[in-house]
Amino acid sequence: MIPPDHPRYRSLVTRERLAECARSGIVAMEGLTAHGRGEAFDYLIGERTTASALLAEQTAAAMLMTARRPVISVNGNTAALAAHEIAGLQAASGALVEVNLFHRTEDRVARIENLLREAGAEVFSGEAERLLPLSHDRAWCRREGMFSADVIIVPLEDGDRCEALVAMGKKVIAVDLNPLSRTAQRATLTIVDELTRALPEITRACRELSAADRERLLSATDNHYLLSEAIREMTMRLSHALD
Ligand code: ATP
Ligand code: MG
Repeated sequence: MIPPDHPRYRSLVTRERLAECARSGIVAMEGLTAHGRGEAFDYLIGERTTASALLAEQTAAAMLMTARRPVISVNGNTAALAAHEIAGLQAASGALVEVNLFHRTEDRVARIENLLREAGAEVFSGEAERLLPLSHDRAWCRREGMFSADVIIVPLEDGDRCEALVAMGKKVIAVDLNPLSRTAQRATLTIVDELTRALPEITRACRELSAADRERLLSATDNHYLLSEAIREMTMRLSHALD
């Protein structure tokens, strides 16, 4: 039992949730270490949505709302942490929700799909094929889903697949707390924020942005600026850490 007055309450509850989902086969053991890397970077941005992250979240909403075939790609950690937020983003954006896993087993795919459905998402499933040019199992996807997407949001992505999707001509939105990862560097748009803070902001922006707002955000998109702002934020906190 984690006491609610513990200073790291939220983080401890999140870890407990991930551990429980690892035991039930939704999260891969490796996903626990991936979360740890994310937590370390979250410390460095002060565990809050920075101004540049909010700009990235609004831009992501503009990209999803103007897409012809938007897709939300979900892995085990994303489902464990944010199944309801995924359902909310789907309702606001009309995007397809499709499961894509690095540590892929049919059993894990089914468990994640069930968890998403229980949270209210409509999951695009069915026959997957090895369609992406990758030697690992993230190559598996559906022809009418991810393979045909023009805009794809990939929380907690692997660098290889992000690169492959961009090379296929897709616009890729990454949610990644590490601005130095290959994913962050290769994506069309990178949101350097924690997943459960980022998704509700994107959903809100999907509902609130006017057509003129979208146009303005899309024409001003500059991922180099967004990454450099995230790195500047982290550098500033580190250099003032002992003030
Ligand atoms: P890459 O393959 O892109 O170079 P990586 O190998 O560091 O990156 P992966 O293990 O493939 O990363 O994916 C995990 C990534 O997700 C990490 O970069 C981590 O910072 C980030 N991450 C983990 N948990 C969260 C979270 N809750 N919110 C946002 N980002 C997260
Ligand atoms: Mg990786």
